[in-house]
Amino acid sequence: MMEVLGSETGEVMQYQFSTEQLQFQQQVEDFLKENLPASVATKVRNGAFVSKAELTDWTRILNARGWAAPNWPEQYGGTGWNLTYRHIFDVACRRHHAPALSGFGFNMVGPAIIKYGSEAQKAEFLPKIRNADLWFCQGYSEPQAGSDLASVRTRAERDGDDYVVNGSKIWTSGAEMADWIFCLVRTNPDVQQQKGISFLLLDITSPGVSLKPLYAFNGKRLWNQVFFEDVRVPVSQRLGDEDRGWTVAKSLLGDERLMVSRVAENKRILANLRETFAHQVQRGINLPEGARTHINELDIRLQALEATSLRILTAFDGGDQIGAEPSMLKLKGSELVQAQDELLFTLVDYMALPLDAATGGEAVSPDWAEYVASGRYHHRGFTIAGGSSEVQHNIIAKQVLGL
Ligand SMILES: Cc1cc2nc3c(=O)[nH]c(=O)nc-3n(C[C@H](O)[C@H](O)[C@H](O)COP(=O)(O)OP(=O)(O)OC[C@H]3O[C@@H](n4cnc5c(N)ncnc54)[C@H](O)[C@@H]3O)c2cc1C
Repeated sequence: MMEVLGSETGEVMQYQFSTEQLQFQQQVEDFLKENLPASVATKVRNGAFVSKAELTDWTRILNARGWAAPNWPEQYGGTGWNLTYRHIFDVACRRHHAPALSGFGFNMVGPAIIKYGSEAQKAEFLPKIRNADLWFCQGYSEPQAGSDLASVRTRAERDGDDYVVNGSKIWTSGAEMADWIFCLVRTNPDVQQQKGISFLLLDITSPGVSLKPLYAFNGKRLWNQVFFEDVRVPVSQRLGDEDRGWTVAKSLLGDERLMVSRVAENKRILANLRETFAHQVQRGINLPEGARTHINELDIRLQALEATSLRILTAFDGGDQIGAEPSMLKLKGSELVQAQDELLFTLVDYMALPLDAATGGEAVSPDWAEYVASGRYHHRGFTIAGGSSEVQHNIIAKQVLGL
């Protein structure tokens, strides 16, 4: 149960899960206790790197239970759960430190294939995504097209039954681990920008594709620049109609936006914050004044976020049209992650230094502190990826506040 004070009218907003929902929550908790490998949960807890092999294994465990794709319809191996059930599932998974599955396959291109794909494409790709047999990455952004995505320049010219693709994508997360990439390409340069874009699925090992690694400032290979030089892509690998790729792209972003509140992830980080606080108190470390109050303030922000998120999700489940409201969730959820990271970093203090040169490169910190700095840098990207905060402010101003 969750209570939030301070709604517009001043009354108490209250969300109470039903008996069925609580039973479902228990079922998920039991499953996680029995099936989530402890070694993987520990890595997620501490923010350490979870390998592709570990993530593949976890995806397959969930797939065997029928829970790998909560957001897909049952006929394609999904669960058919509504958004509230998906929220409960997500929160339980994060609470137990289960790793998040590949969003590119499950939350982006999978739903797009279900909506716009041919029967052949559905049969080819969906079972492979569900079982982590095939990993996708996302080729949207370009050096000259980020927030202004409709200005993509990567060209795809028709040549018989193929397109010939030339150009470059940037900030492509995980391309080095992916088997395929989904791309927005320009198929018609002579019409209004949005009307000349197509959506292609292509094998990243195709001749003419090359990758240049891009590193974040914590030293991690986070992105890639992907180059296409005369890459031949069969026309049968286009998703949706030619020049109508913008519709597919928008639908994909819309699906993504409904689950962007990061409530589950924020809850996980808050639990880490409280644990870290307790560890440091026990160790007799002098903590910054007001740290406990600060944690409670973050907790209140999180409760407000969850209440707003559940309000929007239950309205959607009840059949209401959702407009630009998820932009508020994206904005507030990503800002809250960063605020929590900031405090966690302060609490951990010098122990956020991962290695001690004096000990020949051995970690000086307990493992719960070792990756705090790295996580803080990594999460800086949350207010940029998937649409920057400035862009979300514009959307909220225009479409929610009518300014
Ligand atoms: C961690 C991370 C992972 C990513 N992964 C991927 C991926 O896998 N695939 C992919 O395709 N892309 C990915 N991206 C790229 C991401 O989608 C873009 O960075 C984002 O869309 C912003 O585009 P840009 O970097 O070109 O910045 P720009 O669009 O050039 O913006 C620069 C600045 O101007 C501001 N700005 C732009 N337009 C406006 C406006 N109209 N009003 C006010 N301010 C504005 C922006 O907020 C920003 O501060 C990733 C980014 C990050 C940080």
